[in-house]
Amino acid sequence: MRAIQIDATGGPEVLKLVDIPAPEPKPGQILVRNQAIGLNFIDTYHRSGLYPLKLPSGLGMEGAGVVEAVGEGVTRFSVGDLAAYASGPIGAYAELHAVNAERAVKPPAGIDASVAAGALLKGMTAEFLLRRCYEVKPGDHILVHAAAGGVGSILVQWGKALGAVVIATAGSQDKADRAKALGADHVILYRDADVAAEVRRITNRVGVPVAYDSVGAATFEGTLGSLAKRGLFVSFGNASGPPPAIAPARLMQAGSVFLTRPTMGDYLLTTDELDASAAALFAVIASGQVKIDIGQTFPLSEARKAHEAMEGRDTVGASLLIP
Ligand code: NDP
Repeated sequence: MRAIQIDATGGPEVLKLVDIPAPEPKPGQILVRNQAIGLNFIDTYHRSGLYPLKLPSGLGMEGAGVVEAVGEGVTRFSVGDLAAYASGPIGAYAELHAVNAERAVKPPAGIDASVAAGALLKGMTAEFLLRRCYEVKPGDHILVHAAAGGVGSILVQWGKALGAVVIATAGSQDKADRAKALGADHVILYRDADVAAEVRRITNRVGVPVAYDSVGAATFEGTLGSLAKRGLFVSFGNASGPPPAIAPARLMQAGSVFLTRPTMGDYLLTTDELDASAAALFAVIASGQVKIDIGQTFPLSEARKAHEAMEGRDTVGASLLIP
């Protein structure tokens, strides 16, 4: 089968298309013939070495397609089912991928492989961020960075569905227009603006009770300065590089605020948690309140181009690789 592999960490040029034997499903695994592969910013951290992998390695966490074979002991899936997955083992950038049946879900009727692969990882991230890491209540002002991106687009729409007033940030006017069209109440062009000052202006100096920051280094100070007293800083990504280390006293100076650095896996510890998160996501998609915006698709062989686009801030919404 065709797959993308890396022998060394580095820039997008380390992504190589290879021909390798198809995997066999181990006990408890299903073999999925990917129809669509979800691209995620975390794939760039794996490729660059920010999140270390044992090399050589495949790449990619997310995909959806038809179950081609089931390993010993699998009862959750049958051959021919549509399956979607969003966690390890890493190696989704391939025609076939063996994943643990207990970590995969069956998308309901009406959700095809492209929507599932564009939605699952980013949407379950939005689910735990908005409903469990912090429980968004009607009327809450929430700050969402990179709002035209994959996770950002879902956070904006789902945040609105929960009744929040969404203050979004975006890196260009086109992306700001996109965030507005998704329902954002306010959009800040954060490359130029003083984010904290804008948030204080919008919230009558109060600040936001929760801020979702996936950008990291470039936005850290602005996010800290945007929080209300006892607000929650959710640092969940590093698109511009890892945020700085800070002394606990900074949290006091910022208004007795809280800082958390969550990762999706810790909110999907069990199969029940996975199923509940995926069900909530599929329900909000079925209701029409969240639309999965597939901004661009690339052939599997063009994974390099896809990474260049993601890191070059040239993508909007979700991105897919098609085998
Ligand atoms: P996105 O589609 O959101 O792409 C990242 C966006 O970040 C860009 O489009 C860009 O938007 C913005 N950005 C700001 N600064 C930079 C920079 N210097 N270089 C590149 N991009 C920059 O990606 P995803 O939806 O896949 O992921 C969004 C974030 O969420 C990532 O940081 C990812 O790691 C994180 N994440 C965390 C999870 C967790 O469990 N903790 C799970 C899933 C995702 P703009 O041009 O508008 O600035």
